[in-house]
Amino acid sequence: MKLARQLSLPAAALAALSLSAWVQGQAIDYAKIEILTEKIAPNLYMLAGSAGPDPIHPDGAGGRIGVLAGPDGIFLVDSQYAQITDKVVAAIRKISSEPIRYLVNTHVHGDHTAGNANLVKLGAVLFAREELREEMLRQPPPSASGNPPPAMDPARLPVVTYGMGDPVKFRLNGEIVDLIPVRAAHTGGDTMVRFVNADVIMIGDFYRNYGYPYIDANNGGTLKGALEALDAMIKLAGPNTRLIPGHGTIINRTDIVPYRDMILGVQAKVQQLIREGKSEREVLAAKVTAPYDAKVPGGLLPVGATTSADRFVSMVYSQLKGGQ
Ligand SMILES: [Zn+2]
Repeated sequence: MKLARQLSLPAAALAALSLSAWVQGQAIDYAKIEILTEKIAPNLYMLAGSAGPDPIHPDGAGGRIGVLAGPDGIFLVDSQYAQITDKVVAAIRKISSEPIRYLVNTHVHGDHTAGNANLVKLGAVLFAREELREEMLRQPPPSASGNPPPAMDPARLPVVTYGMGDPVKFRLNGEIVDLIPVRAAHTGGDTMVRFVNADVIMIGDFYRNYGYPYIDANNGGTLKGALEALDAMIKLAGPNTRLIPGHGTIINRTDIVPYRDMILGVQAKVQQLIREGKSEREVLAAKVTAPYDAKVPGGLLPVGATTSADRFVSMVYSQLKGGQ
């Protein structure tokens, strides 16, 4: 059924799909996804999908969910795939029986937002960037990452939105939670979520440690913004702050520096090749990520019809060509 729907999309959208996964019959096997719960602080937990059933995210299905629990009700970060909301709620109920009151999205992609409507119908009020709401309303085709498109239920849309001002602050369950807007980075509507007392920042997807960076320019993401966001995070984080990406392992600020340097290194190399008049095809053939490939798990694995490394280099090329 899904394949039929995707085949009805225009050719350009179709090309962006994870065709190889479909051709090989490797759609996400939602029934096999298990939710793994990790306790981060006395009342803060992370939920992640198990490795294996999601060919686009082989290291762990879907995007990570944050759960702040306590007597003031449950505050959630991101909503995962809609197909596994029952499992997510079951995992939340093992933590707390309090009502689900708030939900915030780190960015628009379906692996972080497709379950929105389900959680809203359970009582959550959804917060996100105004830009994210606009991205959802534009109903973008599935991104090159192969994530499924967000569901079209109106309940998926943020009820409370904010722009690039001061952080939106929540005070509940003995915690101060800051929703920190990030200028166009992974998408045009990114938010970092800081738990001040737990000294934790959920950073969304503008950093990743499985595969190369992914900037979704179709949804307003920019390489320049991602680099700025990395710099901002280095300043915001203390030496012991745990930085929790949407996917992959938990890091701290010392891990950000080599990551940013890798992006700057690839960017400089691509810029040099552009100055030499090389085409995108020639830039890809130059394998400019080679010095980093051994240190980037999943970097050479397929994402859709390309590899994570080639997708990254193509993105750097088009951003530099476009003067962004
Ligand atoms: Zn994601």
